[in-house]
Amino acid sequence: MPIKMKAAVLMGQDQLEIKEVQTPSPGPQDVLINVKACAICSSDVSLMHKPWPHQPPYGSFIPGHEYAGSVVAVGEKVDEFQPGDRVAVEAHLGCLRCRNCRLGNYTACLNYGKLDKGHRANGFTTNGGYAQYAVNHINTVYKIPDSVNFEEAALITNLGCVLYGFETIGGYVVGDKIVVIGPGPLGLISVAVAKALCAGKVVLIGTRESRLQAGLSMGANRIINVNNEDAMEAVMDETNGLGADLIIESSGNVNGPQMAIEMAKRMGKILLLGFPDGPVNANFSSLGKDNKSIYTVRGEGWANVGRAISMLESSRISLKPLATHAFPIDEIKEAFQTFTQRIGGAIKVIVKPNAD
Ligand SMILES: [Zn+2]
Ligand SMILES: [Zn+2]
Repeated sequence: MPIKMKAAVLMGQDQLEIKEVQTPSPGPQDVLINVKACAICSSDVSLMHKPWPHQPPYGSFIPGHEYAGSVVAVGEKVDEFQPGDRVAVEAHLGCLRCRNCRLGNYTACLNYGKLDKGHRANGFTTNGGYAQYAVNHINTVYKIPDSVNFEEAALITNLGCVLYGFETIGGYVVGDKIVVIGPGPLGLISVAVAKALCAGKVVLIGTRESRLQAGLSMGANRIINVNNEDAMEAVMDETNGLGADLIIESSGNVNGPQMAIEMAKRMGKILLLGFPDGPVNANFSSLGKDNKSIYTVRGEGWANVGRAISMLESSRISLKPLATHAFPIDEIKEAFQTFTQRIGGAIKVIVKPNAD
């Protein structure tokens, strides 16, 4: 293993710079991954601007939590993986000792950020994937089949998050009418998952025509551009005036939660995948009277990244259309610019620390 590697280090607010740093070495239960693809996520943009809770200090922190690559070394206690394995990762390793972790809810670890308790969240509280090598505990690593390329594998954590959401709301959506608000990556993946799980009808709401078109190709039955159409009227039209069984709010817009409450049928469910920055105005009286429920998920829990791989392997879903752009790590600034400004219709932008 080379002693030094290339990595993108956060040097200050919004200052990501390519540096030569020490190649990390795996602990007894870790693997060392040669990172082939690391996808830019809006939380990267957000933590570069305003530090995440328990984020390592400027000058030492390598962000990036959506990555995939090849195992090149394993810790002394590892027999689950070997060099050469192609793998995807999830960000969260719980402490495995708090009550939430003991109950399997490791993305909501009560020792979040406490490294001495064993907690890690690569790309948030520990180093991540904008580097030639990254260390992961084996609980956060999943083998991928040859049919899944590294760019698609880097996006698996998004699918894991959406599947965690579907599992949280009860999972059985066969025949349900589902509305997805916000055609960002998680919204588009929600459309695809809803169709793969045989939802009866999937309606996608947004403002950008190109993203709505992407939603159509991911399987949406109906797209609604709120700039041209009354979304509420259209949803009622699609649901015989009753409202939808499930609303997935992934826009993060301040008006999203109230819109979701109004669009849900009596006893309907609302899943929040996007979070507004501040407090929202929402009518909780109608929520209670009509027995509607709101669910939240944090990250990609309950090992759903592992489950997501079998969904890709069975070709029920493809994430490949979402990986619209890729850049070598030396051009990481251009990569972020392409992502934040959505240049060339960018949806997910991949940074490649090593050649395939
Ligand atoms: Zn992410
Ligand atoms: Zn924990």
